Amino acid sequence: GNGIGGWPARRALMTPDRTALVFEGRSTTYAELSRRVNALASRLVAAGVAAGDRVAYLGQNHPAFVDTLFATTLVGAIFVPLNFRLTGPELAYQLTDAAPAVLVHDPAHPAPGATRTIEVDADWPGGGGDAPAAPPVPVDAPAMILYTSGTTGRPKGAVLSHANLIWNTANVLVGVDVSADEVTLVSAPLFHIAALAQTLLPTLAKGGCAVLTPGFDPDHCLDLVERFRVTWMFGVATMYATLAASPRWASADLSSLRELMCGGAPVPESLIRTYLDRGLVLSQGYGMTETAPGVTYLEASRTATHIGSAGLPVFFTDVRLSDLGELEVSGPNVTPGYWNAPDATAAAFTPDGWFRTGDLARVDDAGHHHIVGRVKDMYISGGENVYPAEVENALTGHPDVAEAAVIGVPDTKWGETGHAFVVGAAAAPEADALRAYLRERLAGYKVPTRFTFVTSLPRTASGKVHKPTLRTEVRRDR
Ligand code: AMP
Ligand code: MG
Repeated sequence: GNGIGGWPARRALMTPDRTALVFEGRSTTYAELSRRVNALASRLVAAGVAAGDRVAYLGQNHPAFVDTLFATTLVGAIFVPLNFRLTGPELAYQLTDAAPAVLVHDPAHPAPGATRTIEVDADWPGGGGDAPAAPPVPVDAPAMILYTSGTTGRPKGAVLSHANLIWNTANVLVGVDVSADEVTLVSAPLFHIAALAQTLLPTLAKGGCAVLTPGFDPDHCLDLVERFRVTWMFGVATMYATLAASPRWASADLSSLRELMCGGAPVPESLIRTYLDRGLVLSQGYGMTETAPGVTYLEASRTATHIGSAGLPVFFTDVRLSDLGELEVSGPNVTPGYWNAPDATAAAFTPDGWFRTGDLARVDDAGHHHIVGRVKDMYISGGENVYPAEVENALTGHPDVAEAAVIGVPDTKWGETGHAFVVGAAAAPEADALRAYLRERLAGYKVPTRFTFVTSLPRTASGKVHKPTLRTEVRRDR
């Protein structure tokens, strides 16, 4: 089988001299990418990495991320991209759970703990070589583990097989006319599945070119679009809103862009209209980490006529609605389950094997899906998922907090932001002190921006916090 780790070598045979990657003024051809991947794979094998072992990556977008992804999967090991926004304790939890044999990291993100590490230095990639001798990788073997938090407050590693990623690539290639002339801007963080599997992998499968940026800077992105004649990208709504607010927006030459994929969080209709007015298409897709990720997609040509819809099921994947309106997914892109977590895996599937998304959807007469809400206790701030349970656990760890409940409230910049309701203990807590306390323990985007101190929380008969009451209170106060 040709697992994803074999893609650079295959492309080096087919299109050796075409540009695979551009990063900070440096280009990499497919031949070079393949040599680099081989060299790193040999290095990993020399460090003792064997099939089934994990190799983690911690750092911003960089060609080294791409090299590590392919080198790891080439030798049958499992790639674990980590979110560099997490704090030390959050990362330590994931590293303990995944127990990587090697951690590759950039200089800005030194590894917490004592794992064997490879640092991405200034003259990365350096060298090249032959592929190490390794048996072919079965396509149903795990290729990646991506951590997502959960409603219990503990992150879980969603396992994606080679086949999951191959089928998602197939879904994208059927839905979008990705071509060998694609120039794809990869500015969303690669440690999230969307930029990685919706745009980078399909681009490289077709022999197109991916322009990587370490982070998302709107003016720089507009410059790159002009300079490289970018045709395609993925972003979350917050990124596209920032782009449209840039002083360069009105004057930039954006004529090369044929489609801007938007998903990972609700896409405001006003944003789609702003882009249509500028002659640009924001095509909406809906998906999740566990589905590698595409589930539904609205074709670019239908954006104007079906504004706000998340489209039709992707080609090789089935969806259905439960009696309660929850969207369920079945198909070759659906995760086999969570790493070391059989209970969480069992809970994620219906008895007949469909994956429960936790999202509520509606289907219109033309079969188009609209994502209308969630049954899971989660909100999304700037494209990053936040699980209130995790924030509440951290808050109640503070000595002055007796009880806490967190909800997501609408926010013009971030889509949603956290609002904490706190019952104080003996000493009355202060918002600034709680924020500082949380910042040491949680990634910044998880720290609530608003605090309300209350004497008790509304509870149901069974003792659970009744969040709809809190939401009503927030709406009344606005
Ligand atoms: P993640 O696993 O980080 O990709 O997050 C997946 C979740 O993001 C989904 O379960 C949805 O709640 C949300 N999501 C993704 N795409 C959309 C969309 N187009 N509209 C609304 N919510 C979305
Ligand atoms: Mg997300």
